[in-house]
Amino acid sequence: MSGIRIQTVTKRFGATQVLRGVSLEVAAGEFVALVGPSGCGKSTLMRIVAGIEQPDSGRIMIGAGDVTRLRPGDRDVAMVFQSYALYPHLTVAENIRVPLALRRLNAWQRLPLLGGLLRGTTDANYLMDQDVRRAAEALGLRALLDRRPAQLSGGQRQRVALARAIVRRPAAFLMDEPLSNLDASLRVQTRREIVEIHRQAGAATLYVTHDQSEALTMADRVAVMQGGELLQVATPQAIYADPQDLRVATFIGSPR
Ligand code: ADP
Ligand code: MG
Repeated sequence: MSGIRIQTVTKRFGATQVLRGVSLEVAAGEFVALVGPSGCGKSTLMRIVAGIEQPDSGRIMIGAGDVTRLRPGDRDVAMVFQSYALYPHLTVAENIRVPLALRRLNAWQRLPLLGGLLRGTTDANYLMDQDVRRAAEALGLRALLDRRPAQLSGGQRQRVALARAIVRRPAAFLMDEPLSNLDASLRVQTRREIVEIHRQAGAATLYVTHDQSEALTMADRVAVMQGGELLQVATPQAIYADPQDLRVATFIGSPR
């Protein structure tokens, strides 16, 4: 099986049990929205799937393999977060190219690359440029490739972060409230772009949002989390019309 499999993951910070045995599968081609009140453990779960944080117990499978012990760069995932840190001294094209330049290099090889190789003109870079152009095209950034982040609007910066996420063609996307810094009209437009990117990639996408309508309109299935547990995982229709309990109904705003 491909996609993402999260198997009975637990995590505690000090005295706080943040995740209490979370299991969730996202199939290849499937878009799952993860919702729940602030502090319920959504970002912690995302960081564990990405490999930025280690679980206390449980396993993470991505594609065919167990990646629980792999570092982030060795997992076939791309992450987009709310604070989409772009490199201010690099152009849009160079920012999008970063994951390609860092691929298959170890830590000590990676460091000098950010300044030097990224701007080189080797054959390898020519191939990378094709991927960069394809990603930029998908997000309407072709005319902006030579700009620097300071010369972009917030929405354009977030699209650069999305282009950077798709440039490697990963098997899985992890997005943690990627639109929450955008204004309302831009958010609706970018929603559509994200769903389109997901479809074209055929990826397994796990998408955190605090916006219930976003979850209900974008996702194939919605996972409702509270207090470090999943209360219900079901289609938007089922979550809305047939919530499993009062906590789900209250959070989603279902009619009762
Ligand atoms: P959410 O994304 O759902 O808002 P988080 O996963 O960010 O929730 O946080 C869940 C809980 O874990 C919160 O109580 C938060 O304070 C705590 N937490 C998250 N990261 C850490 C950390 N690195 N150290 C200590 N506590 C943390
Ligand atoms: Mg969070």
